[in-house]
Amino acid sequence: MQITHGSMIIFKTAKALQAHLLQQKRKTNPVGFVPTMGALHPGHLSLVAASKKDNAVTVCSIFVNPTQFNNHEDFTNYPSTIEKDIELLISVGCDVLFLPSVTEIYPPEHQKKIYPLGRMEELLEGHYRPGHFQGVCEVVDRLLELVDPQVLYLGQKDYQQCMVVAKMIQLTGRQDKVRLEIVPTMREENGLAMSSRNMRLSPEERIHALLISQQLLSIKEHFYKKPLLQLKEEAATNLQRQGFTVDYVEIAEGETLEPADTPQDGQVALIAATIGKVRLIDNMLLDGAVNSSTI
Ligand code: AMP
Repeated sequence: MQITHGSMIIFKTAKALQAHLLQQKRKTNPVGFVPTMGALHPGHLSLVAASKKDNAVTVCSIFVNPTQFNNHEDFTNYPSTIEKDIELLISVGCDVLFLPSVTEIYPPEHQKKIYPLGRMEELLEGHYRPGHFQGVCEVVDRLLELVDPQVLYLGQKDYQQCMVVAKMIQLTGRQDKVRLEIVPTMREENGLAMSSRNMRLSPEERIHALLISQQLLSIKEHFYKKPLLQLKEEAATNLQRQGFTVDYVEIAEGETLEPADTPQDGQVALIAATIGKVRLIDNMLLDGAVNSSTI
């Protein structure tokens, strides 16, 4: 089934989407793909813009993937603003929206795979959200199979996810078929990283939430000037003083996500902390970390 909304076509089934894309590809048009879970904001739209710049056809998907939520409440509370999302996607000239159901992505014959992600599954988000990265790999693997794009656009906002998906692409032998492009994090003017979860912050929590990007900036400013342990401890203490529960403040190797002992180019500072009921993540590249399609 296909629905045309202005200049954008919406597909709810993979079969109809594939028939359309096959037609497009016959004209040798490269396809760029932006997977999302909806509740779109300018950060998501910057991925669509990046795809539009380099591809003839841009496909965005909205699918709240149940298999990547380790916390059921987080899944059921995930915001949904579909009518507004459609308007936003039309406004930035997205060509195709794929809006599948759960059974479209995971039909009865779907075989669950285990992705051997190694240490990435034990570190940072891997540790705090058991099973999350397997779920991310499962849905991106499946979406890549259905959409078959030349370029996949992911946001640096979810830096660890980018590294995990880069590994999944290698593990599934897709590296010659699809290129991963990492788009820089879009922030509010005051530095807060845009996120669908920000909608759940109270006005007061929203102000406190700024502290996360401020701590990352402070780490970046003092990188090479203070010991890494001190930088991490200072940031964690500052967050805790403002009422955050801190899961981690880490300085890690850009590709492997292993904690760093000494400062070096290619590292990244990462924070996960909860204010009220909302868990926020953010990161900042520290001199020359992986920040585009170098993988
Ligand atoms: P989500 O809907 O949260 O799964 O995000 C879909 C895509 O948008 C992911 O690749 C995210 O990393 C990316 N994204 C989310 N927030 C931002 C942001 N503030 N700036 C850039 N990309 C983002």
